[in-house]
Amino acid sequence: MSAQRRPESRADWQALADSLTLECRAFIDGDFGAAASGDTFATRNPATGEILAQVASCDAPDAERAVAAAQAAFESGVWSRLAPGKRKKALLKLADLMEAHKHELALLDTLDMGKPVTSAQGDTAGAIACLRYNAESIDKVYGEVAPTGEESLALVLREPLGVVASIVPWNFPLMMTAWKIAPALAAGNSVILKPSEKSPLSALRLAQLAREAGLPRGVFQVLPGFGHTVGKALALSMAVDCLSFTGSTATGKQLMQYAGQSNLKRVYLECGGKSPNLIFADCKDLDRVARHAAAAIFHNQGEVCIAGSRLLVENPIRDAFVDKVLAAAERMQPGDPLDPESFMGAIVDEAQHRRILDYIRRGVEEGARLRTGGEALEGRGLFIPPTVFDGVTPQMAIGREEIFGPVLAVFGFDSEEEAIAMANDSDYGLAAGLWSQDIDRIMRVTRRLHSGQVFVNNWAGGDQTVPFGGVKQSGNGRDKSMHSLQEYSELKTVWMALAP
Ligand code: NAD
Repeated sequence: MSAQRRPESRADWQALADSLTLECRAFIDGDFGAAASGDTFATRNPATGEILAQVASCDAPDAERAVAAAQAAFESGVWSRLAPGKRKKALLKLADLMEAHKHELALLDTLDMGKPVTSAQGDTAGAIACLRYNAESIDKVYGEVAPTGEESLALVLREPLGVVASIVPWNFPLMMTAWKIAPALAAGNSVILKPSEKSPLSALRLAQLAREAGLPRGVFQVLPGFGHTVGKALALSMAVDCLSFTGSTATGKQLMQYAGQSNLKRVYLECGGKSPNLIFADCKDLDRVARHAAAAIFHNQGEVCIAGSRLLVENPIRDAFVDKVLAAAERMQPGDPLDPESFMGAIVDEAQHRRILDYIRRGVEEGARLRTGGEALEGRGLFIPPTVFDGVTPQMAIGREEIFGPVLAVFGFDSEEEAIAMANDSDYGLAAGLWSQDIDRIMRVTRRLHSGQVFVNNWAGGDQTVPFGGVKQSGNGRDKSMHSLQEYSELKTVWMALAP
């Protein structure tokens, strides 16, 4: 296992890209192969339009085969009943292999979905940390002995669920994958991963590494393909015990229906957001806050579930603050994703590009004031610059709906009460930010925000030790931390009658 040399420049990354051999086949029951139908789909580099690969397009027969293999592996106990310390060892080995191939993994996400390679490197580090955290945790989780009388002994055991299907999106392909599969595998489940059809390459490379790490056949499988084909088949399967999903709210709602139509499988959802970022006039260093407010929406081209897409600014500082946000945005223009200096990259595909531009057009039609951006950049790839609308109202589409692109909606408020009401006036509740120096206000407002996470005087802070997830239509699950590990196990009560 030799570590790859660290690429330093655009040319280094391009050279690494030119040297890659892409795995494009499905990974079922320990082997790579074509989809049963022989069908494939093209995955493109959105920065250049180039087709990167033709990838196996799995469908219901592939799902059926993978579920059968997952069940067989689970029942055999080869992983599900393996001592937690041994599962830990295998997963740490996988993490080490990921570390040894981290540049390649980051590059695959950049090529596949257009994110800047520096940002993809951060995602890869996060994915490796997630693997290690869950591997290290699993042999420290205890069951319980209930406080019953002497005539009985009652145990509460934690057992794996069975077959977990993880369905993930394209915006953080490797990191979202790790957030799902690491706790599910650590807990002893058999896991079937369905990556997004827009970004399947890093998942397939991960499958190669998992095989090299010695994960037994059927324990980890990867089915590339579309949501309405292989994704739906997994979700409707009577033998899948849990769906763990990250993606849009619309798909999340469908998955709950599929669970109801089939076997009442558990459904953990991490869905969309329209997150408010509240700027109070008392906060210090407005230049710094403005830089963070801009990065909160323009990071990853705005294709972030917790993007700070609604900026709520106290009216006395609003004009001056928006000017500072515009100045910060000016320095965040999209660039070549392979250039380590680029802050923003390409939009994932033409459909998403069109959708973002449609929202921008609606914003103008609905009377919001376009302060910067708004037009796609000319050239080969799919690039949209930072776009800022001021004078947005909660009735406007750009003020309510998740755009999933580099579009910031600015609102003004006059009082704390009004700010809280505006922040909570949303179907979503994934994240919220609040900037102030007043600790009483911070706690007052924090407690009243309907949100799974609140960032105080920062945006998107967190690490592997704290849960990540939302309330309302942003979903019901939690990724990361010991809370996510527990989601992938079931409680079993054992009541033993003892002779007096
Ligand atoms: P999406 O819902 O279109 O697709 C997500 C995944 O679901 C893909 O793998 C897709 O193939 C699959 N899918 C689609 N329809 C399906 C169906 N009928 N049955 C089974 N599977 C199906 O979402 P997307 O466009 O890939 O990702 C963007 C969305 O993800 C945004 O809404 C974003 O907010 C959300 N997201 C949320 C989080 C979070 O942690 N809350 C993190 C990242 C992204």
